[in-house]
Amino acid sequence: MNQNISTRRARKRLFIGLISGTCLVVCLFLMALWIVPYIGLGNIHHYATWALGAFVVGLIGVVCVGYWGLFLNIVTKKPLPGSRRFRGLTIKLFLPLMVLLGKALGIDKQSIMLSFISVNNELVQAEAARYKPEQVLLLMPHCLQNSKCDKRLTYDINNCARCGKCPIAGLLDLHDKYGVNLAIATGGTIARRIVVQMRPRMIIAVACHRDLSSGIQDTYPLPVFGVLNERPHGPCLDTTVAHYLLEEALHRFLLEDYLEGKNIGIGLTISTAQATKL
Ligand code: SF4
Repeated sequence: MNQNISTRRARKRLFIGLISGTCLVVCLFLMALWIVPYIGLGNIHHYATWALGAFVVGLIGVVCVGYWGLFLNIVTKKPLPGSRRFRGLTIKLFLPLMVLLGKALGIDKQSIMLSFISVNNELVQAEAARYKPEQVLLLMPHCLQNSKCDKRLTYDINNCARCGKCPIAGLLDLHDKYGVNLAIATGGTIARRIVVQMRPRMIIAVACHRDLSSGIQDTYPLPVFGVLNERPHGPCLDTTVAHYLLEEALHRFLLEDYLEGKNIGIGLTISTAQATKL
């Protein structure tokens, strides 16, 4: 647990370091845009340089307000006015620039993606409300199924015999206990189709860092809480997930009336084959 906390802190530090560097680079770039024409623009019109200067200062102001809003949101873990915009700003503007800056600094993409997922989860927790079970989707990757299992889950997840040899049995138990929707996708395209069909208000997704970060970006502005799968046999084979992390997330995002079996929802299950028919 202590290791988990220190890992999360390290990822958060990396994210804050990169986003600070990105913000600085953007501001320096914008300042350069002002300085260069300053030398020559006076020859065109004596107000031209000031007009451009005011425009650049305005842009720097927007970047700085966005940066500080995001920074305070991450550090205080409190929802600030416009929290959703800060998450959008991170996903649409800062993340691509951070990847570029990280590349230039020799930081591997995986570490950046992990830090992004970690910070996204905190922003989602600060921003997201609580939902009815039928508004929440547990979106799982197919590689959680035991590779030796002959049950055809791509046609119907309920074909699982719940033998307990892989995490699918526990996921079906969570689906039964809380009444949330449960879906298994064989890839990003199918996952997107499932989201379009089920129209959830909130997604709790399990995947590797690469699929999670692209899924979070693709489904914005829908809040996605990401849980990394464990890969003891390497990528895409017999992966696992800690059910308690999913249960903790459900306790965070479900309306309290629907917890502790007070009021079970009516969640659906959907599989790859059903989503493909759309
Ligand atoms: S829990 Fe279900 S999916 Fe997993 S091995 Fe057993 S029957 Fe197959």
